[in-house]
Amino acid sequence: MKIARLSDLADKAACPRLVVKVGSSLLVGKEGVRRAWLEGLVAELAAARARGQEVIVVSSGAIALGAATLRLDKGGRGSLADAQAAAAVGQIALSGLWAELLGRHGLTAAQLLLTLEDLEDRRRYLNATATLTRLLDAGAVPVINENDSVATQEIRFGDNDRLAARVAQAARASAVLLLSDVDGLYDRNPAEPGAQLLAEVRGVTSEIHAMATGGSSSGMGSGGMTSKLQAAEIADLAGIALVIGSGLHPAPIARVTGQGIGTLFRPRRKAGARKAWLGGRLRLKGALLVDMGAAAALGRGSSLLAAGITGVEGDFQRGDAVAIRDGEGRVLAHGLAEYDAAECARLVGRQSGDQAAILGYAPRSAVVHRDQLVLL
Ligand code: GLU
Repeated sequence: MKIARLSDLADKAACPRLVVKVGSSLLVGKEGVRRAWLEGLVAELAAARARGQEVIVVSSGAIALGAATLRLDKGGRGSLADAQAAAAVGQIALSGLWAELLGRHGLTAAQLLLTLEDLEDRRRYLNATATLTRLLDAGAVPVINENDSVATQEIRFGDNDRLAARVAQAARASAVLLLSDVDGLYDRNPAEPGAQLLAEVRGVTSEIHAMATGGSSSGMGSGGMTSKLQAAEIADLAGIALVIGSGLHPAPIARVTGQGIGTLFRPRRKAGARKAWLGGRLRLKGALLVDMGAAAALGRGSSLLAAGITGVEGDFQRGDAVAIRDGEGRVLAHGLAEYDAAECARLVGRQSGDQAAILGYAPRSAVVHRDQLVLL
């Protein structure tokens, strides 16, 4: 059964496994932890569990909480060092809070702190999948955050929206609910008169991207609508529904599933698990630029041949993940390269039959084989 409407998020058959992401501004207010609100949310999570749904929490708030304790300005986001220090302090309190509140409902919290590389590297990704699966089988509620204290700028997600979508992929969840400080996606800046909340979106097109207004409105989280749309793209590829709903109300899940207030991104497709992982990768080792003919051929399901490549960027090895871009800079696909960057550069624009003469060997005719490629 697929998720076709917001109420399906509360349906065990349509949504056996749900990821709920809670933004920083919901967890932490000016007076510290918004405990009463969180108790309400945890009661809803416990109700979902009682209905037979499995639940995974992606919780922000470590930086905000730690910054308050350490009295750091800009909510602990003034510098990377501040964010790392704040998270180290805040994460203890955050996990303790979840463990305590879930425990009151007889539920066991399990903390996982992940970095980008834990989900970008295939082996580590499968390892995270195994841990999540085991925890869910054992009846625990995984509570996940980015490992902000060790993550540097290059290796960090930086927002928990995309982390939640990647976690949903790894856990093979049915849906992700991003609880935020907005009701969903509006057709323009929600502050403008006449702005309409979109009930359903199919496909994160350029029109949809144009509706996003950028940064976080609370100034506390780091997400904003842009990262939520990126999360929706990752979920879409994996065949996972994603919902944006407001957490500014008591019982926020019921508001989404009962009153139907939120935006549902319905997935259009379902790539195989490996291709979904590849398509959801956020950092790639390089790029292959292709001409219009190759772009069209890729669209028809072909492999990428050297003849259609116009340029090579980055320093990648054979087997590394690369982006495939058209002349206008649009990313058409992600794929695993059959040759390293230097070899690709020598093959640019050449026919497959010439490859042996150019390289001294030509084990593969395609530069990216269609089985190792996912269209975006
Ligand atoms: N991981 C960050 C924290 O715990 C939050 C990231 C975000 O704002 O999405 O504070």
